[in-house]
Formats: sequence, structure tokens, C-alpha cells
Amino acid sequence: MASLTSTTATAAAAVARPAARRSLAVRASATSPRLAGRPLRVAVVGGGPAGGAAAETLAKGGVETILIERKLDNCKPCGGAIPLCMVDEFSLPLDLIDRRVTKMKMISPSNVAVDIGRTLAPDEYIGMVRREVLDAYLRSRAAAAGAEVVNGLFLKYDAPQEPNGPYRIHYNHYEGVKGEKGEKRTIEVDAVVGADGANSRVAKEMGAGDYEYAIAFQERVRISEDKMDYYRERAEMYVGDDVSPDFYGWVFPKCDHVAVGTGTVTHKADIKKFQAATRLRARDKIEGGKIIRVEAHPIPEHPRPKRVSDRVTLIGDAAGYVTKCSGEGIYFAAKSGRMCAEAIVEGSANGTRLIDESDLRKYLEKFDKMYWPTYKVLDVLQKVFYRSNAAREAFVEMCADEYVQKMTFDSYLYKRVVPGNPLDDIRLAINTIGSLVRASALRREMNKITL
Ligand SMILES: Cc1cc2nc3c(=O)[nH]c(=O)nc-3n(C[C@H](O)[C@H](O)[C@H](O)COP(=O)(O)OP(=O)(O)OC[C@H]3O[C@@H](n4cnc5c(N)ncnc54)[C@H](O)[C@@H]3O)c2cc1C
Repeated sequence: MASLTSTTATAAAAVARPAARRSLAVRASATSPRLAGRPLRVAVVGGGPAGGAAAETLAKGGVETILIERKLDNCKPCGGAIPLCMVDEFSLPLDLIDRRVTKMKMISPSNVAVDIGRTLAPDEYIGMVRREVLDAYLRSRAAAAGAEVVNGLFLKYDAPQEPNGPYRIHYNHYEGVKGEKGEKRTIEVDAVVGADGANSRVAKEMGAGDYEYAIAFQERVRISEDKMDYYRERAEMYVGDDVSPDFYGWVFPKCDHVAVGTGTVTHKADIKKFQAATRLRARDKIEGGKIIRVEAHPIPEHPRPKRVSDRVTLIGDAAGYVTKCSGEGIYFAAKSGRMCAEAIVEGSANGTRLIDESDLRKYLEKFDKMYWPTYKVLDVLQKVFYRSNAAREAFVEMCADEYVQKMTFDSYLYKRVVPGNPLDDIRLAINTIGSLVRASALRREMNKITL
């Protein structure tokens, strides 16, 4: 809580500093009507990283912003790993980062462990955050920028009755009293941004269609101080049919405990069995630990069929922006929130004009252009390397290569496709083929044994 208070204060200071303001190029749409006597009004539904980032940018850009969050102390089930570039890009105060992971252990089905992270520079790390702290911080920054943060449950919206008319939002308003039912209220806005996560009601309202999803299960385990020492700067990823047929099991360090979890798309009914196997694989390191929280949540597998309709759009998990293979979504949620808000600010000429669907489509185009290759590469990696134990052994073997480590970490930490060294690329291709050939030979031998 102390850290939450100090980061909240930092948020207010960050907003007060003029240097922290991002300047946006303003381009008034020729056709959109000018708003008389009031700014553009936008409701952001959901106050996770996507909603917090969107609301801050909207408010800074002159848009009247209301952020509706059903649970202001929400502790989203999440590993809480964020890439280094997010700290800088979103000016996150360093006391928000509970742990700096510099050692990542990849553990194969036969328990061969490879340390990745050897190529990291002394100031490079994966940040570990508590979601209740990060989300509250981003919301407080949105509020400091001028957004109205409302504790409420979004229920539905009524679409405009005439062209350029308002959307009527229905929500339950809470006063912060535990267990209260809330009071039914409505507000009128010009546009709606759905940042309400994987079970998005905004997505249902706009008929966005469904996506395939993984179910992720996680236990928070408090372990002894000496056991915690091992995880101080270390995270572990376990692969194998036992922990997940299509994903990985993990042990991630949190402030005073570890998060042990796994996920699957294809065998959801068996998730508890996979969780037990993950716990078993890590048993020596978490032995005697006390489970302090058990949580599960869907993780989207790909974007929804529709992400914009008229003046309603989706960001973050509501849109489906989680990468396959790694299951990473926090950065993409915040980034899509900011990009969507920038498109609205720009399209509305700093909140002075109404926007239309074409303004929201600009955000989608930009986001897809920037991140589609990342999603595609991780999708292919998952298909190639998570399909059998033999392929996973090959994957872990490949991870021992320093060039692979450098490329992987650079792409993860900085979210940019790093140009490689052609000679190393050829060596990597040969090694990969070698690993895969060995893997399929191994699989054939294993099949013979099981027959
Ligand atoms: C077990 C697990 C581990 C994960 N680990 C990682 C990880 O280590 N690193 C990583 O990058 N990603 C991880 N992810 C993915 C990551 O959690 C999500 O991608 C990220 O939270 C998406 O942010 P968001 O803001 O879009 O949605 P969310 O974080 O889901 O936020 C949605 C918000 O909307 C609110 N809300 C929902 N419905 C309503 C409503 N009707 N009215 C008002 N408010 C509403 C919710 O209370 C919530 O605060 C993990 C996911 C899971 C399930």
C-alpha cells in the first residue's frame, strides 16, 4: 500500500510537469461536425492497463473522458511481467517494479534447464509488477490528467437514434461500499472505448464476435525467505505435455511470493491436472510454500472478428491483443489504449469535433501494421515448437544459443523486430533444422517404444 501511495503521488507530479505531456499532431477531419460549446465525450469502459492508458491520453488531448471501472482494487489474475520499453514509454516510476528478472530458466520436458538472459546488459531486465498497483497507478494518472474515474459496472449502451446522436451508457454506480448493489445510472457520450478485458460486455454489445481463448490458472505461493532468494531475479518456464499441451507452465517472482501457473486452449477441462504437474516440476523450489491465492482467467488467442463499429471500438484483451507462445498482453493493452486515444484526439481536433468510424479505423490500421509481424512470428513458433515433447526439447536446446537469446530478448524487451547478423542467421537456421530433425527422429523412436 505504501508503494501504491508513493506511485500515486508520482503520477500527479508526472501530469503536472509540462514536459511529460505528449504533443499530438492535430488534423481536423473535413467532414466531421464541429461540437458547439462542449468537448467530445468519450466513455472508456474498464480500468486495466488498456483503459488507464487510453483515458490519460484522451484527457490530455482535450476530450471529456469518463473511465468506468467495476472494481477499483481489482487484482487481475496475471503473471505481471512487463518489457523494459514499457517502463520508459509509459514513464513508469521504478518503485512500481517489484522485481527485475535478469535470469530466465527454460526447462524442457526431460528437465533439461537452459539459462537465458546471459546476453542482457547490466541495466536490462524484465519488470515484475503487481497488477493492482500498476492498474491503480495508470488510473490515477488518467484522473490527474482530467479524466473522471467512476466506480461502476457497465451494463449496456443504446446506440444513437439519429446520425451524430449520442450513445446512452447504462451502468451500476458504486459508492465504494463493499457488497452494495449499486445505483442504476445513465450517461450520454459521443464514443465508447471497450477496455473491459477478455469477457468484454462492450464487445457483446457491438456484436464484435468471439475469439478462441486459453484458460490460464495461477496459484500465488508464499515460500520461505531462503527459497525466495532463488527467485529474486529469476523466472522459470516449464514446457512439456504434462504442464500444458499447447502452452507453458511458469513460476514468476512477485513482491513477497511466487506465481505458479499454466494455460491451455485445447484441453481446458484438464487445467487443474496441468497445474498440479507444474507444481510438481517446481516442487524442490517451492516446497513448504503456502498457497495464498488461486485464480483463473481467459486469455484471448487472436483479435476479434470486428473491433470497430460506428463510434465504438475495442482495445487490449477486449480486442484480443495477446501474443501466442508467450501470452503477453499488458504492454499491448496499454499501447493499443494509447494509440486508440491518439487517433480519437487527432480525429476530433483535440476534442472540438465529432469523430466517426474512419477515425477509429486509423488506430486499427496503425496497430496492426506495427504488431502483426510479432503476432504472426509467435504464432508460428507456438505451432512448430509446442506441438510435441520432442519439439519442445529442440526448442529448449535452441534457447541455449546466445544469438537466439539476444534476438529473443531484444524483440521482447524493446518490441521491435531486431535486424539480425546474416551469418548468425544462417547458423541459426542450420541449428534450428538440426534441432528439429533430431526432435522428429527422437519422436519416432519414442513412438516405437510406446507401441
Ligand atoms: C494468469 C494470467 C497470467 C498472465 N501473465 C501475463 C504476464 O506476465 N505478462 C503480460 O504481459 N500479460 C500477462 N497476461 C495477460 C494480461 O493479463 C492481459 O493481456 C492484460 O491484463 C490486458 O489488459 P486490459 O486492460 O486489456 O484488460 P484487463 O486487465 O482484463 O482489465 C479489464 C478491466 O475492466 C474491468 N471491467 C470488466 N468488465 C467491466 C464492466 N462491465 N464494467 C466496468 N469495468 C469492467 C475489470 O475489472 C478490469 O479492471 C496474463 C493473463 C493471465 C490470465
